[in-house]
Amino acid sequence: MNRIIKLIIAASCIFSLIMFPVACGGGDDTAEHKAPVKKAEAKPEVKHEATSVAEKKAKPSPDEAIAMLKAGNARFVDGISNHPNINRARLVQAGKENQGDHAYATVISCSDSRVPVELLFDAGVMDIFVIRVAGNVCDTDEIGSIEYGLCHVNTPVLVVLGHTQCGAVTAVTHAVHGTGHALERNIPPLVDNIEPAVRLAMSKHPDVHGNDIVPHAIEENVWQGIEDLFMASPASREIVTSGKAKVVGAIYDVGTGIVNWLPESKTTDILENVEANPDRAMDAMAGGGHAEEAAGGGH
Ligand SMILES: [Zn+2]
Repeated sequence: MNRIIKLIIAASCIFSLIMFPVACGGGDDTAEHKAPVKKAEAKPEVKHEATSVAEKKAKPSPDEAIAMLKAGNARFVDGISNHPNINRARLVQAGKENQGDHAYATVISCSDSRVPVELLFDAGVMDIFVIRVAGNVCDTDEIGSIEYGLCHVNTPVLVVLGHTQCGAVTAVTHAVHGTGHALERNIPPLVDNIEPAVRLAMSKHPDVHGNDIVPHAIEENVWQGIEDLFMASPASREIVTSGKAKVVGAIYDVGTGIVNWLPESKTTDILENVEANPDRAMDAMAGGGHAEEAAGGGH
């Protein structure tokens, strides 16, 4: 009987060798099945990894990223947008790759429908990490989102983007002037970050009255957002101080499409003032130990 079994095994092995030359060699069936394929694809795989590393290294510097945003806005204003990175291939890429290897800017802007962030920078999918909130205020949730953008999506620039005719800033200005109207219950805690900006604009421009103060308040609100960010986010301060990223202020003109860039030196001044302020937050990391999970870059 044993002989017959051995014969059957031998015969089936020979059959297998003829039909599936790899499978009957003993050892790990699955691994050997894949072996020839692996060998055949060995070179392209290595090449692909090398390309990914190169792409990571090729991420723009802060100044290069700002230049890309400026160039994109210029195309948008001139009506010659390229509409890059919005085709099917980009979607497939977005589904497979880490946005942290591609996105070159974090932008916080107002929710106003006249401020379409990707369009006005002529950018596409996986290009800009966007936070939109009425009045482009930097409160806890927005600052947390900015920390994602700078520390996990690794964007080399953050733009705090105000805009002309901002309704949120106008509403706060009216409230400060005592000419405001009743607000829905969740709006006051949203726009309270804007009030110091309006008051500062009024104190800097005592001769400017009524709605004429709004454009000044809009600019002060951008600076207020940057100050609030630095006060609450040691991680953002560190990333800017180390030169890995820049924080810049800008104001979008809803009537022309032009982004007016505010002086970068003012951001440096704000950061210096915050570093000297004993009330600034000091612990960069949250407790709870979810850092690994958060580092995935999928947010
Ligand atoms: Zn607005």
